[in-house]
Amino acid sequence: DGQYPHLFVIMGASGDLAQKKIYPTLWWLFRDNLLPSETVFYGYARSKMTVDQLKKKCESYMNVKPAEKERYEEFWTLNHYMSGQYDSRTDFEHLNQELSKFERGPTANRLFYLALPPTVYENVTVHIRNACMGTKGWTRVIIEKPFGRDLESSEKLSSHLASLFKESEIYRIDHYLGKEMVQNLMTLRFGNRIFNPTWNRDNIASIQISFKEPFGTQGRGGYFDEFGIIRDIMQNHLLQILTLVAMEKPASCQPDDIRNEKVKVLKSIQELKLSDIVVGQYVGNPEGEGDAKLGYLDDPTVPKGSVTPTYALAVLHINNERWDGVPFILKCGKALNERKAEVRIQFRDVPGDIFDGKPKRNELVIRVQPGEALYVKLMVKTPGMAFDMEETELDLTYGSRYEHIKLPDAYERLILDVFCGSQMHFVRSDELREAWRIFTKILHQIENEKIKPIPYIYGSRGPKEADQLLVNNNFTYTGSYKWKPKM
Ligand code: NAP
Ligand code: NAP
Repeated sequence: DGQYPHLFVIMGASGDLAQKKIYPTLWWLFRDNLLPSETVFYGYARSKMTVDQLKKKCESYMNVKPAEKERYEEFWTLNHYMSGQYDSRTDFEHLNQELSKFERGPTANRLFYLALPPTVYENVTVHIRNACMGTKGWTRVIIEKPFGRDLESSEKLSSHLASLFKESEIYRIDHYLGKEMVQNLMTLRFGNRIFNPTWNRDNIASIQISFKEPFGTQGRGGYFDEFGIIRDIMQNHLLQILTLVAMEKPASCQPDDIRNEKVKVLKSIQELKLSDIVVGQYVGNPEGEGDAKLGYLDDPTVPKGSVTPTYALAVLHINNERWDGVPFILKCGKALNERKAEVRIQFRDVPGDIFDGKPKRNELVIRVQPGEALYVKLMVKTPGMAFDMEETELDLTYGSRYEHIKLPDAYERLILDVFCGSQMHFVRSDELREAWRIFTKILHQIENEKIKPIPYIYGSRGPKEADQLLVNNNFTYTGSYKWKPKM
């Protein structure tokens, strides 16, 4: 809208997330002219710092090309920084005065990004509410996970926030919702006649949603250990993807129509039981190199004897007419054999087979990262004189089909959404409550009973027991499929 100022306030501007993600993202949006003109950036944290020192801290993450140098300097002239406490009303009143100086015109909007440890959320949000709400436009607050650590603590945070802000002012980031292939799920399912009629229990055997990382905690396990992989990845990112894969067609593309459908799916999922889950923890590989020699417990920041899972596979069931009996398998882990995030939909065997059991199951794979791709594994007659058959694929690799298109980073899309007021890709409080309801019982049980995770070797595919759970849940792996990468 041009002539009206927008004030983007980063609370915790001195921190890790701010320098690695938020400032770089703001710079890229600014560079590409995607932000409203007259946006001013205001950093706030306890550390005493100048904008110049802040700039230096961010430097190595900003990715500035030589030709962009001038624009880059321009970006920093729009930045300001103020040191203040998180529990001081006076400091927030001071911040408000500083912000007001930019708001001389009739309209001005404010965004607050909480890049802070959750221990200070409560104070900071109270002070924003009491001292820093915009008086000439909207105020929006962006919050990062963790949103609590179980149903009770999350509900406490949600009701605290609800006592201060309207739901339309709260933006809970789950950055997986900003990824291209996750945003693609709606279009794929509801914009193509070929998928929707088969998207159900009559045709689909099982669905896997996986996240794999090829490295461990890299000496920073202290933070991770308080949460574990289920809270870090599964309860939020993977479950969000699940809702988009499984939900019914929304009445429209309006954010709340979509979020209503996502909540409905979650409500149809029962609480997880111990028999539905395999948890693992990586151990060093004596034959590995460097970090691979080190297990989770070798990280000096991890408490001795920790039973925190670094791997988990869970089988969820959606009790509705579309999905009754179809296992939804969520799988995530650190220190595995590869980096990938994908959705793998495996179809049932062909009924009334006339090919002596040769047809292998079709699979539709939606690869979120790395290298966005969409492929369907299918059977063809072996090319040539033979009348045999073999597996091949219909393949859409984004890198070659959309060669010159730059896919924006998840944070770029999401921050822009907040400017635009679109909550489609943000988590609503009722969604969050249902997500915690599904996982809280099992998280408490794992912690209270100190359930020992199964050891798996750094760089492997995870514990063998997880593969057995796959077999038991209608996923068939044959090992016969061969991919021929283009040279
Ligand atoms: P951080 O660097 O530890 O903290 C951000 C800032 O908060 C610090 O620079 C510090 O600033 C202040 N702070 C730190 N500990 C504090 C304490 N105990 N009491 C009061 N203030 C404290 O955190 P972060 O890694 O940026 O993460 C911020 C939020 O984003 C967290 O909720 C985190 O879970 C979430 N998150 C982070 C990442 C990431 O990549 N880092 C990814 C996803 C989500 P001053 O001392 O200058 O006030
Ligand atoms: P696949 O080789 O048939 O493997 C399917 C999945 O089964 C694997 O991803 C693996 O996932 C899992 N698996 C492996 N060993 C297993 C075991 N013993 N028991 C149970 N599950 C097992 O097919 P694919 O992985 O879809 O494709 C093979 C390769 O081709 C991949 O590297 C893929 O990226 C590549 N490809 C690329 C494109 C493209 O870029 N467009 C298209 C097609 C294929 P987990 O380790 O996660 O369990």
